[in-house]
Amino acid sequence: MEIRLCKKCILPENYEGLSLDDDGVCNFCNTNKLKKYQGKEKLLEDINGILLHHPDRTYDCLVGLSGGRDSTFLLWYVVQELKLKPLAVFVDSGFIPVQTLNNVNHAVTLLDVDLEVVSHEYLKKW
Ligand SMILES: [Zn+2]
Repeated sequence: MEIRLCKKCILPENYEGLSLDDDGVCNFCNTNKLKKYQGKEKLLEDINGILLHHPDRTYDCLVGLSGGRDSTFLLWYVVQELKLKPLAVFVDSGFIPVQTLNNVNHAVTLLDVDLEVVSHEYLKKW
């Protein structure tokens, strides 16, 4: 039997929790509509509205950092453009290339951001 794919996101029909409608579009695509970007000022207004409820916070947000360019850019944007104080979180599977670890450490050092490394011990031999 051939597995059908969602026409929008190409998730397979056997993906957990997914169902396809008569047009071949999944329930995830039908319920999650794209939001129109309203600009940096509106983004900051929304963020600051949330942060007002947490005046004793240590960090303004978490940024998942993989060591790749997308998450590194996001970290830069959060610090330099949005002027927020993030905690960077990096997940170490035990199979991370040295260059990636170097990129992560270099980025957090340059941006003066605290880094939390989460290690997955279950991948190690016992
Ligand atoms: Zn979909």
